[in-house]
Amino acid sequence: MLKIFCIANQKGGVGKTTTTVNLAAGLARVGQRVLVVDLDPQGNATMGSGIDKRRMALSVYDVLLESAAVAEAVQRSEHGGYDVLGANRELAGAEVELVALDRRNERLREALAVTAADYDFVLIDCPPSLSLLTLNGLCSAHGVIVPMQCEYFALEGLTDLVNTIKQVHANLNRDLQVIGLLRVMFDPRITLQQQVSDQLKGHFGDKVFSAVIPRNVRLAEAPSYGQPGVVFDPSSKGAQAYVEFARELVERVKTM
Ligand code: ADP
Ligand code: MG
Repeated sequence: MLKIFCIANQKGGVGKTTTTVNLAAGLARVGQRVLVVDLDPQGNATMGSGIDKRRMALSVYDVLLESAAVAEAVQRSEHGGYDVLGANRELAGAEVELVALDRRNERLREALAVTAADYDFVLIDCPPSLSLLTLNGLCSAHGVIVPMQCEYFALEGLTDLVNTIKQVHANLNRDLQVIGLLRVMFDPRITLQQQVSDQLKGHFGDKVFSAVIPRNVRLAEAPSYGQPGVVFDPSSKGAQAYVEFARELVERVKTM
């Protein structure tokens, strides 16, 4: 059964895109058919998958405006081993155009439904906001994966996101749930990070994934080569952690 997950956190720079492309590559490695949907006009997930956002004939923009089907607009990340529905600056315009259109929250969901048999997982890389684009993501998804750094204000930011997810669940998408919280850019030598990590586990219990993604420079270098870190340097600590996370997610999905 297809599972559609948003990778969301309203903060920027917390590792959403890194998580999206590396989880996609990790899932592909363990035999899953994966589609990445880039919902951020910055197009980082697109570029980080080796697809040039400036040379796309069709993108997620065309899908949202219903001038193309998902199957027509996807491209293959050859290195990553997954498909990508790409994004570029054009997508920022969709936000404005969608406001005036009917079914504006449901367009991505409807487009993905047509292609449901082609994939095991769809991973939606959300922009750092709670905008109409993010809403389209949340309305399409079975669940949300929240990457987070174990910093002082992390828990506070989480409350806003969890409230938004509750509202979407109540009003727009009864399927939506928090799948789990993923600790990223983790440095166990920093006492504060350990403390916040313990707080997280105390608060959210087994919603906190066991896999922990360390701070690892290879993950940060990989996008400039148009590759997920999992492919760029499979033996690095960061790559191994993301493959471990992919395995954990496959197991967790079985119990959903
Ligand atoms: P977001 O999509 O939430 O804005 P990104 O995934 O783009 O965040 O990550 C922000 C920055 O942090 C990027 O430069 C990325 O390469 C870097 N980064 C993300 N995860 C890690 C990690 N585990 N170790 C080192 N650098 C990371
Ligand atoms: Mg991003």
